[in-house]
Order: sequence, then C-alpha cells, then structure tokens
Amino acid sequence: MLKINIEEVLRFLKENRNIYKKIVLQAPDGLRNQLLKLYEAILNAGINVEVYISGSRNFGACDIAYEEGVRANADIIIHFGHTQFPYSEEQINKLPQIPVKYFPVYDDRKVSERLLHKLYSEIGEYRNIGLLYSVQYYPQFKVIRKKLEEKGFNIFIGEGSSVGLGRGQVIGCKIGAAKTIQDKVEAYVVISGGKFHALGVSLWTGVHTVLVDIPSSRIFNLDRETARIRSIIAYKLLEAEKINRFGIIVSKKSFQYNLSIARFCEKELWKRGKKGYILILDELNPQVLMNFPDLEGYIQTACPRISIDDIMLYKKPILNIEQFMILIGHKKFEEVYPWRERKAIQEKK
Ligand code: SF4
Repeated sequence: MLKINIEEVLRFLKENRNIYKKIVLQAPDGLRNQLLKLYEAILNAGINVEVYISGSRNFGACDIAYEEGVRANADIIIHFGHTQFPYSEEQINKLPQIPVKYFPVYDDRKVSERLLHKLYSEIGEYRNIGLLYSVQYYPQFKVIRKKLEEKGFNIFIGEGSSVGLGRGQVIGCKIGAAKTIQDKVEAYVVISGGKFHALGVSLWTGVHTVLVDIPSSRIFNLDRETARIRSIIAYKLLEAEKINRFGIIVSKKSFQYNLSIARFCEKELWKRGKKGYILILDELNPQVLMNFPDLEGYIQTACPRISIDDIMLYKKPILNIEQFMILIGHKKFEEVYPWRERKAIQEKK
C-alpha cells in the first residue's frame, strides 16, 4: 500500500514552524484522500499553520498546485507521491516563487519468492539486465536488485541524465537512467505499478522490457504492447501528413507550459503551407477539443505521454513534439521509437 508518512510531514512542519504559516497540500489521484487525515493531524499537532488541500487533479511532478498556492498566499506547497520534476532554472524562475517540498510515498508490499521465480523465468537467457524503478517502488527495487545479483545476473543501474531523479529512477517522460546503459544491457526490468513507466522504457529504447508490477504481484512482458503502440503512432503519423489545419496545444500546467515550442511548431507549419493555431488550455481532454470542429488534428506540447497512452481517446491525430519532429522530417521514426531484435527464446512465447 502507498501511505503518506504523516509523522515525517509533522516533523518537517514543526522544524519550520517560524517559516511556513500557510501551506497547500497536493497529491495525485489515489493518494489525495489521505490528505484529509494529514490535515487533521496537523491541526491536532498544535502547529500554528493554515492548511489548504488542492482538490484539483494532479498528473505528475510537472503539475504543481501553484495556482492554489498563489490564491491562498501560501508559504509552501507540499507535494506528495513524486520526486522533484527535473526542470531547468529558467523554467523555475518563470513560476511563482513559492517553495515546493516533495515527499515521495513508498509502497510497503513485500516481494514474494513466487514473484521472483516468475521474474527469473521471464528474463530467460538474458544475463545483462538494466534495472529501473518508479519512485514509489524504490523499496522493492532494492530487494529485487539484491536477489538478481545473488542469482548471478549482471545488473546495470543507469545514472540518468535528469537532475532530481535517483540512479535507476524513471518517470513517464524521462528515461535517461535507461538510455545511459542501453548499449550494455540485453533487457530491462522495471519495478513499478501499472504499465506506464515500463512502456515508456520499452517504446523509447526498443529493448526487451519486463515489468514487475508490485500492486498485482505479476510479471508482464511489454513486447506486444510496445509493438501495438508503435504501429498506432505510425498510422497516426500517416494520417497527420494529410492534415492542413492543426491546433497547437499549450497546457497552463506549471512545467508543461511550453509556449516557445508551440511557436516553433506554428512557424514550421506555416512555412510548409499548413495552418497552425496555438490554443492555451488548462486540462487537455477530447471534450475541450470538440469545440474546434474545423481543426483536423493537433500537436500538443504538454505531456508526451498523452500522444502515446491516450492516443486512442482522440479521434483525430494528436502528436507530441517528437512525433511532430518526425512529421516534418527533422527526426526518423526509428530514431525516436527504435526496435531491437529479441532473443529466440522470447520470440517463441
Ligand atoms: S510524463 Fe507527463 S505527467 Fe508525467 S511528469 Fe512527464 S510531463 Fe508530467
């Protein structure tokens, strides 16, 4: 179970009682309800602090509740469930100067011997393994790393190229920890919950990827899903080639706000005799786009995963930036979505 560590937060607030008098608490779906208990614990702890909960949806560490923070005149935003988004100094300087404290939340489930045996059998003959995790499953990552090393596998843990992320840690849009060891490994094992992180690793590296799904205690081979998504993206790109009028979407969300990239897309489209209109939105979903029936497709500069995981929710093509770069010939499809041949033992499955 993922559980907010209330004691840790109270300790932090007590230590900083003279600095933070107004706080906004923020958590993603699934954790948000636990903020009620924390709210109560803060009131009962006798710390003289005003507490507010951001009730808005949260999509990741890129999506900080600055709006709520500004409205409530907060001294700090306390964000649960993620580590710091690897943003640049330039990005942070453009945002309201409210400090953000990140509290990752860890799953406390045990790794069973049964799950480990299933993992050994799924890895099969591969010996050089890149081990990765999403932050909630760091405790299980440590256990599995030890077990795999004891079994004689060569384990590689990538440094990653993004500030704020730990060794071996990936998030939905940053898989530097996988990329840096790509040439050394035959397969990746991703310790996570759900297919989201493992799919990103598999799609952007083309390397055989196995997911250890801690919540369901199951092992998944991502090859088939990756091939399916790759072919859908390729098909959407073909459709996009025929389009003349694109909406270029900019999200208002803190670290998803990419106006200069949108301007670049707009320029590139008009240069090619196509039309591009920049739309600034709060939350991107198929319903808000229904108000623009004249647009034939979209380029979204918000979150790259919208054009991967949610690709089928949108009837019209909706490209992310890397897909747009393929569309305009600045990148090759294989370069963005490579595919490495698998060992025979995996192909037989
Ligand atoms: S994958 Fe998308 S939602 Fe997640 S951190 Fe990256 S931009 Fe944000």
